[in-house]
Amino acid sequence: MHSRLVRRSLSVLGVLLLVTAGGVGMGGCIFSAPRWKGPVSDHFDGERFFNLEPREERGSFLKWQLERKPGAWTQWHDVAPGAPPPQRVGRGELRVTFINHATVLLQFDGLNVLTDPIYSERCSPVSFVGPKRVRPPGIRFEDLPPIDGVVLSHNHYDHMDVATLRRLQERFPEVRLFAGLGNRAFLEGEGLRHVTELDWWQEVPLSPEVMLTSARTQHFSNRGLFDRGGALWTGYVLRGPHGATYFAGDTGWGRQFAEARERFGPMRLAVLPIGAYKPEWFMSPVHMSPGEAVRASEDLGARYSVPMHYGTFQLADDGEDEPVEELRRALAERGAQAPEWWVLGFGEGRDVPRVSSAPPP
Ligand code: ZN
Ligand code: ZN
Repeated sequence: MHSRLVRRSLSVLGVLLLVTAGGVGMGGCIFSAPRWKGPVSDHFDGERFFNLEPREERGSFLKWQLERKPGAWTQWHDVAPGAPPPQRVGRGELRVTFINHATVLLQFDGLNVLTDPIYSERCSPVSFVGPKRVRPPGIRFEDLPPIDGVVLSHNHYDHMDVATLRRLQERFPEVRLFAGLGNRAFLEGEGLRHVTELDWWQEVPLSPEVMLTSARTQHFSNRGLFDRGGALWTGYVLRGPHGATYFAGDTGWGRQFAEARERFGPMRLAVLPIGAYKPEWFMSPVHMSPGEAVRASEDLGARYSVPMHYGTFQLADDGEDEPVEELRRALAERGAQAPEWWVLGFGEGRDVPRVSSAPPP
């Protein structure tokens, strides 16, 4: 009993250390994080961004830390990387490759786009503490094809990994970075270039035929102690001759999926998060459960869906295999009505078939 208490105190201490060490390690930038200065909107009060569908908080971070019952994870999977992806795919084609965590390579209409790329050992403000990867990235960095654009869903360390972004711009000097409002000053302060920031539903062309649109999500942002809500979180819709592809980033359940479908029609592909959802009393406002992700794929009218945000970093209390097991359970419950989901291996790529003109129900 006593040792359990000590272990828990140490774990809380570890988290506090992680946060404060971040402040020191980043030259105190968490105390003076650049804040977005812009007009007030229905999701920005002049100081902070907020969700359109606010959810009641049912307990504190400290309560979670003190009561944690984390599921089992393997410390390290010594696995070989996947085969190098093709350099490009043609107009009208779509290929998806799952790399790790929320990092997915989307190849379509002659373009290559990476989502929330992370190749670092840890997702943390500092290199020596914080969640550590349990497997190598599914595609070796050297095997990445030329990257045209990177879409960043929000500024959490597991999604906006500055070290990986720097490596990408060293290798591909022209690569463009896209993020929600309020992230450009931070990224440029880290030496990154070609940054475009977007408000929800704002769009920007990636090529004469391809449009990128920022799509509202239910989440939050912070990199330090005092900058919660200082920059916007978002998902994305990529539209072109191949159809429409949806990338959610981190999000809790909400009406945003139905809204995206109302605006853009059914998706050919949806990439949706299924991990870091336990305990649900604490996580559900900001992270969907696998069951909610299935509902999201239905609301999006997605012909094919690919899960992400699991199996790479232990961030919450779901065990390593739980998200995929729970996803399979939610799909089995629907029987013949179940939408089509592909659980890709780490580093596995697949061509997404063309969708016939008739949208799925
Ligand atoms: Zn997040
Ligand atoms: Zn995340």
